[in-house]
Amino acid sequence: MPRKVRKREKRLYKTIAKQRISELFELAEKEALRNRMDRADRYVEIARKIGMKYRVRIPKKYKLLFCKKCYRFLLPGVNARIRTGRGKLIIYCYRCGSYKRIPLKEKSSAILK
Ligand SMILES: [Zn+2]
Repeated sequence: MPRKVRKREKRLYKTIAKQRISELFELAEKEALRNRMDRADRYVEIARKIGMKYRVRIPKKYKLLFCKKCYRFLLPGVNARIRTGRGKLIIYCYRCGSYKRIPLKEKSSAILK
């Protein structure tokens, strides 16, 4: 492996990494809905690892799908609770008890579909 990875190659890796991350989150969602939380958690883990390896950020819309503390896949009503209050969206993780607060601005509501 050459020390210097060419810029063009690097960009290609990143594009592929991003695609893989999206695919993994979609798979995670599907498995979670089928009550296979173990698989969903595993997909989140793989997606995070890919993100770290290729220094790709997890897209915002997917960031809401897992807990930033224990990295579990969050399925509202099953292992997470979602509330709104004071102009914020509050996601509570049942597993580790951490809260995630997202300000409800025009921009952020757009990413919630
Ligand atoms: Zn958690």
